Amino acid sequence: QSYKSVALIVGVTGIVGSSLAETLQYPDTPGGPWKVYGVARRPHPSWLAKTHVEYIQCDVSNTEETKSKISPLTDITHIFYVSWMGNEDCSMNAVMFQNILSSVIPNARNLQHICLQTGTKHYIGLFETDTSDTHDSPYTEVLPRLKQPNFYHNLEDILYEETGKNGLTWSVHRPALIFGFSPCSLMNIVSTLSVYAAICKHENKPLVYPGTKASWHCFVDAADAELVAEHQIWAAVDPNAKNQVFNCTNGDLFKWKHIWKVLAEQFRLEMVGYIEGNEQVSMAELMKDKDSVWDEIVKTNGLMPTKLKDVAAFWFADIAFQCENVLSSMHKNKVHGFFGFRNTTTSFISCIHKMRAYKFIP
Ligand code: NDP
Repeated sequence: QSYKSVALIVGVTGIVGSSLAETLQYPDTPGGPWKVYGVARRPHPSWLAKTHVEYIQCDVSNTEETKSKISPLTDITHIFYVSWMGNEDCSMNAVMFQNILSSVIPNARNLQHICLQTGTKHYIGLFETDTSDTHDSPYTEVLPRLKQPNFYHNLEDILYEETGKNGLTWSVHRPALIFGFSPCSLMNIVSTLSVYAAICKHENKPLVYPGTKASWHCFVDAADAELVAEHQIWAAVDPNAKNQVFNCTNGDLFKWKHIWKVLAEQFRLEMVGYIEGNEQVSMAELMKDKDSVWDEIVKTNGLMPTKLKDVAAFWFADIAFQCENVLSSMHKNKVHGFFGFRNTTTSFISCIHKMRAYKFIP
């Protein structure tokens, strides 16, 4: 088959990487037909095998390994960088991205565009830093960088320098909280909440909301992983999107108290929600001894073998359940011609259905 475009997805098993792998293979995807290379460290997972990705197992934090495995891919036309090292270390995250660009740019003569995924932490600061110095929402792409270290700044600087030197185009994507189905993501909130609900069900407990009162009542925005994939593909091929930073959200709003009801329904649980007067209870703390409970749930339901730490990031839910007013504007997207949207409740349910179909959750 002859291809019009050739994608390199770095982080192909992740929350957006897996949706990019799916979306790029559809016959009507802009820029197609696409040939797709996908990179991650773990062995090729069986669930990804139904996509036509040429899988490359590579640790991109290792400069030599990246060079030897990625530089022979001379037909790459577009890079989708949807990875991070799992902690917020600026220099290590920069090394990963730089290793990819140094391996691809000198060798792929038809390289045109690089999509870099960062996120809302651009506006609110890293999880690990003091969050008192944040922007007021709704966040717009023109807001200046916060005056604190952030690996997103390092990644952007590398992107601007390398594309500027080499006559390439770029786009930066700042998604809100992502709803997706991957069991290989470091921060999959839908998977985390589904696992929490499955454990409540297994233990005959009601679905109690452990977060703060303010987070239960306030508006939040999210970004469906398929929508984020469509957003990046749009920017990769549409001239109106070149050399720009874009937020990415579903375009609607939700409240955890509404999603919580849907979660309870999906797992046939008694919904208790937020208990008036309660302080936040750490989910990471609540779930810290539940590894064997999850093993039991996997076994009794005939699920694909997973470990609790891989399918649930309770520390991430703890952060999500204390955030207030984290909202991004989609105005700039519309001005530049991106009109994609999702219904957040439908997105939440369809992620649960997809994870069930793959036997990741009961
Ligand atoms: P995920 O954690 O879902 O996926 C990471 C991917 O990268 C996986 O495929 C992982 O596979 C791979 N990977 C990690 N380290 C390496 C390595 N050293 N070499 C090769 N592959 C590697 O990523 P996200 O999409 O969540 O994160 C990407 C960016 O998006 C981050 O900057 C994040 O902050 C941001 N973001 C995420 C949100 C979310 O809700 N998840 C929300 C908004 C922004 P393997 O482990 O097998 O290597």
